Parts: sequence; C-alpha cells; structure tokens
Amino acid sequence: MQIETDTHTHTISSGHAYSSLAENVAAAKAAGIKLMAMTDHAPSMPGAPHLWHFGNLKVVPRIIDGVGVLRGVEANICHIDGEIDVPEKLVKQLDLVIGSLHEPIFAPNDEKTNTQALINAMKNGLVDVIGHPGNPNYPIDINAVVEAAAHYRVLIELNNSSFLGSRRGSHKNCLAIAEAARDSGTWITLGSDSHIAYTVGQFAECIDIIEQVQFPLERLVSTHAGKLLDFLAERGKTTMGEYHQLR
Ligand SMILES: [Zn+2]
Ligand SMILES: [Zn+2]
Repeated sequence: MQIETDTHTHTISSGHAYSSLAENVAAAKAAGIKLMAMTDHAPSMPGAPHLWHFGNLKVVPRIIDGVGVLRGVEANICHIDGEIDVPEKLVKQLDLVIGSLHEPIFAPNDEKTNTQALINAMKNGLVDVIGHPGNPNYPIDINAVVEAAAHYRVLIELNNSSFLGSRRGSHKNCLAIAEAARDSGTWITLGSDSHIAYTVGQFAECIDIIEQVQFPLERLVSTHAGKLLDFLAERGKTTMGEYHQLR
C-alpha cells in the first residue's frame, strides 16, 4: 500500500525525542513520504518546548529536500470541556493540530469522561486529528468518538508506535476503532508518532489493521499528499496551496 504522509512526528524539541527536523525529513524521504507534520508536544507536557517554539515555526521551510513539512503541534486535551493547551490565535497559524490525552495532564478517567473530553475537543474546532484514541489507559465509547469525528470532520489517527510498545494493549482497541470508522464515514490518518528518525514513515502495523478491516482507502488521507492537503484546506487551513507541488 502506498503511503505518502506521516501526520505525527517529534523532534528533539519535545524533550524526550532524539532527532532533529533535518534527520526526520531525510528519513521521511527515504521511506517515500512526501508530506510530514512536525508535531512536537505542547507546553504542558514535561520537557516540552515553550509556546514560542510553535510561534516561530515560520522559519521552517514549507518544503525541505522535496519533503513537505506541515507546521504542527501535539496539543494536550486538558479538561472534559475539550480545552487544549495551545491558544486559539496560535492554532490558527498552524497547519495541523493533534489533540491527545496524556497521563501527566489529563489523568485517565472513566469511559464517559474520556469520551466527552475527546468529543468536546472536536466540537471546539481547534483539533484536526485525535491522537492515539486506542490507548487502553483511556477507555472510550468508540462509536461515539468516531461518529463525532465524522460529524466534525476530524481525522482519527492510527498510531503506529502504539503497536511497538508505547501503549501496550492498543491493538484490540485500534482494530475496533478502524472497524467503527469504516462503518461511520470517518476519515483516518496514519501517524508514526516517531520520537527518533528511524521510525518516520514506518506503518507496517497500521497497514495490517487497514487491510484486516478492509478500510475504504478513499477515506484514508495518507495514501496521497493531495488528500491530506484537501482535508486540511476544507478545515479552513489557508496555507495548503504552498505545498501544491507535492500533489
Ligand atoms: Zn501522544
Ligand atoms: Zn506524539
């Protein structure tokens, strides 16, 4: 299966990741990735960069050595009302915002609370992707989350690192999420969640799930850079034209 995008990568700026942007770009290119999002952790994560890291992303070229670099963030969903730790003004300057639940910021809660936090984050309109929703530490009402994602036109992430030890026990949940997304008209994106360059663009475990549930490839944005650009443009991102040569 051809995969052209990776919507979830960290650089050394995240504080517990080990590669530079240049190293990630080189790895993306070698893996056949045309468009990659740089999504370092937002400030409330221990060791994460200051907000100025995100405000200054304008210095990063749109395209480096033929690989498109989307200016992104992995924001923390902080509250059941869906609030994130990146101000709206800054969100508007970014190309791609992942919203994730992380243990140090949002203590794992019951299914109802976790579900409501994710749905409200989508409803608030500031997140483009829900990161690693299969995390077994955060039980969710899978149908409710994927239906909300379809309704609010938000991408659901299949996170490859979840299957490589990051979030043990994700596989069963991710399979159920992919099945529910298949049946709900929901769109999916693949994220490597790389914390080191060697895993950028590596999606073997995600592809297994996509194939196993026969997920309709027209709703997998990752198969063509242009699909991700179109999806983000529909969400109101005005900078997608700067990547037109990647189509
Ligand atoms: Zn995360
Ligand atoms: Zn991450």
